[in-house]
Amino acid sequence: MGPTDRFTIDRAVELYGLDRWGNGYLGIGPDGHLRVQPGDDPARFIDVAAVVEALGRQGFSPPLLLRFPQLLEAQVNRLAGAFRSAIQEYDYPGTYHPVFPIKVNQQRTVVEGLLQAGWKHNLGLEVGSVPEVLAASVLSLPDDAVMICNGFKDRRYLEAAALAARLGKEVIVVIEKPFELDQVLEMAAGPGFLPWLGIRIRLQARGTGLWEKSSGLTSKFGLTTAELLATVEKLDQAGLGGRLTLLHFHLGSQVTEIRRLKTAVHEATRVYAKLMKKGIGLRYLDVGGGLGVDYDGSRTSSDASMNYAVQEYANDVVYGIQEVCEEEQVEHPRIISESGRMLTAYHAILIADARASTVSGSEVTLSAGVNGQVQVIQDLSHVALGITVKNYREYYHDALEYHDQLHSLFNLGLISLEDRARGENLFWDIVRKTVRFARSAKVVADEFVELEKTLYEKYVCNLSVFQSLPDHWALDQVFPIVPVHRLDERPSRRAMLVDITCDSLGAVDKFADLKDVKEALEVHPLRAGEPYWLGFLLIGAYQDAIGDMHNLFGSVHEADITLNARGEAVIREVRRGQSAGDTLAAFGYTREILDERLLSALAEQVKEKKLTAEEADELHTLYGRRLDTYTYLE
Ligand code: PLP
Repeated sequence: MGPTDRFTIDRAVELYGLDRWGNGYLGIGPDGHLRVQPGDDPARFIDVAAVVEALGRQGFSPPLLLRFPQLLEAQVNRLAGAFRSAIQEYDYPGTYHPVFPIKVNQQRTVVEGLLQAGWKHNLGLEVGSVPEVLAASVLSLPDDAVMICNGFKDRRYLEAAALAARLGKEVIVVIEKPFELDQVLEMAAGPGFLPWLGIRIRLQARGTGLWEKSSGLTSKFGLTTAELLATVEKLDQAGLGGRLTLLHFHLGSQVTEIRRLKTAVHEATRVYAKLMKKGIGLRYLDVGGGLGVDYDGSRTSSDASMNYAVQEYANDVVYGIQEVCEEEQVEHPRIISESGRMLTAYHAILIADARASTVSGSEVTLSAGVNGQVQVIQDLSHVALGITVKNYREYYHDALEYHDQLHSLFNLGLISLEDRARGENLFWDIVRKTVRFARSAKVVADEFVELEKTLYEKYVCNLSVFQSLPDHWALDQVFPIVPVHRLDERPSRRAMLVDITCDSLGAVDKFADLKDVKEALEVHPLRAGEPYWLGFLLIGAYQDAIGDMHNLFGSVHEADITLNARGEAVIREVRRGQSAGDTLAAFGYTREILDERLLSALAEQVKEKKLTAEEADELHTLYGRRLDTYTYLE
């Protein structure tokens, strides 16, 4: 694409990859605004920039987390629909029971939205800790839905699970560790109520991608074959064999290769069949989570992608189970899957405003004080003037040496700050020229590819990567990022994004790309007095729960947006993000403590006559007002 080509909306769709990873939910209007399209009709859409403006008028400025409950609904329908088709196609005699693993997003509105949308599909819940059990036990589930209890269990966990069962839920407690069995047996021996039981097995099969370690024979989770047999025997001896109803495995989240899933389904079904033949009346086979999300749209087995579609996943689960059950001539189980990422990733978009841009070696004109006689500056000037497309490699290498010399001389106290500044300016001028010349070569050497990265602009974005994109920080997980407006304009800049935390890891420097990840994103030049909003997409899975308060940046404002029957976007619910006072309180600085200390410090200043009583009052009020403010830039 040359700079004079016309930049079209189609070009923007292609450049940012909306049609590759957007799952049909995203588009761009002729006005260059990003659109969310919850249904099949692209004429019915939510204009994201218009929503951000409307929220701004209500006093909620970015960073904002926009949730689109209709995308949760669309994803549940997609998942259940895929299993329905697979069951029909293979004439599978059992049923499918999706469960949502609540750890993927515990937000009440998200879970309730999913449950409501998934009611007709018997959507159940999976939980992994006492608080999650307590939340799930009071949420309404359809009669045919199950509540799967995974995670480490002690007596209190089991009591909470039993309580949920007594509230009418079909609770299945999955034994994942041998010591949990003792707790279960103890509970069964007492007067307490015992829920249904399941067993998580450790398969030889492994997942792929960033979460591969969750599976395999050495994984942290699940019983080995010997432990499985011992558990079954002990349950039988205790007269509890009849309570065992489910077999479970989990390959790890974001399985990128379908082949691994097929192998695991076969292996697990074989275990199921062997247990059935031992007379254990299992009813469910739970294939865990792992159904991926194609974050970069490459449809490959790279970490940010997956080499299969939802329908293929459902087909392989159903077909694999069917095949082994028929070979082994055992009753077909009800199938459970614990897909979380696939259900929730799409529904949330974080909007952050880019505030400023910085660039390495930006030229600041030096007014005076440069000593033109310093040899190293003369050498750098000579390179800067003489560098050409023919000699750039050699001249650049010379400049590297002069640049080192410049700093050595400065460290020895032999040149002034002004000379150092002049030398640095010259060096960056040489770098820019080198990159320009190197780009014109047929094959750009790695050295210059790397050099070009030092010239990327850095857009300062009003967000905390630690709070809102923790998986990018911790795992280099790639999330698609797209400006939510100006998409009818050519994005003429390439930038890395840095956040407003005081941490160099608070940056986004890996971006979805069709071929590989790229280190800079195509962005538009910032315009004075105008906001520039970037959308961080597909962040609805895991990010809410894992985010932390580094630098005491708190949760962001949130809003639920739906499209009504007239095709209008409705802002249904807005939740204010945490204030400075909220995040401080979370770390022990309660309002009372802060107020007490503040008043005593002010009194001290008044006593020492450094402040008047009125000034102390004003400062007290100001402090209180600041405690109420949003933790992000205004
Ligand atoms: N089930 C279990 C036991 C898990 O540990 C997880 C997450 O890793 C899930 C389900 C959800 O996986 P996913 O979000 O990949 O569907």
